[in-house]
Amino acid sequence: MIQQPGEALVAVSPDEGPSVLLTYDDGPDPESTPAVLRELAAAGARATFFVLGTRVRLYPDVFRSVVAEGHEIGLHGADHRRVDQVPEAEFASGLVETKDLLEQVIQRPVVWYRPPYGRFTLSAWAAVHDVGLTTACWTCDIRDWLDVPLEEHLAALDAVTRAGEIVLSHDAYADKRDLVDDGPPPPVDRALLARAVLERISSADCAQPTLSEAMAHGTPVGRPWVEDATT
Ligand SMILES: [Zn+2]
Repeated sequence: MIQQPGEALVAVSPDEGPSVLLTYDDGPDPESTPAVLRELAAAGARATFFVLGTRVRLYPDVFRSVVAEGHEIGLHGADHRRVDQVPEAEFASGLVETKDLLEQVIQRPVVWYRPPYGRFTLSAWAAVHDVGLTTACWTCDIRDWLDVPLEEHLAALDAVTRAGEIVLSHDAYADKRDLVDDGPPPPVDRALLARAVLERISSADCAQPTLSEAMAHGTPVGRPWVEDATT
């Protein structure tokens, strides 16, 4: 897929039928990831998991179970630091090392990358592009890093047009293990939230393919993602 510098994939318009593309970031986590996997399996849904190198090293068995259940793997970073807070050479080598780490397990090329916090720079975009990864962000953020009532998380889904839009959610919460400190995790029941999201999507009769499956039967939709082109 060809992208302009600074651009990210935000949806894949399906050739036929409505679809929603579920993505989960920041895992794997030994508690919440298996719980989310159970909900996805129960609904027969598939998702794309953007994982962290720090977590894959800590919890290789959990990572293998995500792969074994047929979900797609994308790269979210060697760790969870913002890309503009990592020296450029370290960022580039971290991409290569983490991509290799993931590919040793999944036995196929990783194709997708998503920047932590969605914060991006043109130089980081170029480094991602140079290692053969395509940046994939989102159109719909259910804000599951906030402690708000369930309905508020789900309300974001109602704005999704079912036209292959990408939903941002989390199967874990990045912390000091991932070289960041964003405070204590919100008391979000990630399994309960996943179940509610899946119920709302299936009631609209939407397919839930992985990003690569969607690309095989749809048209990519991109959007500029670097806010300040001078950074
Ligand atoms: Zn993240």
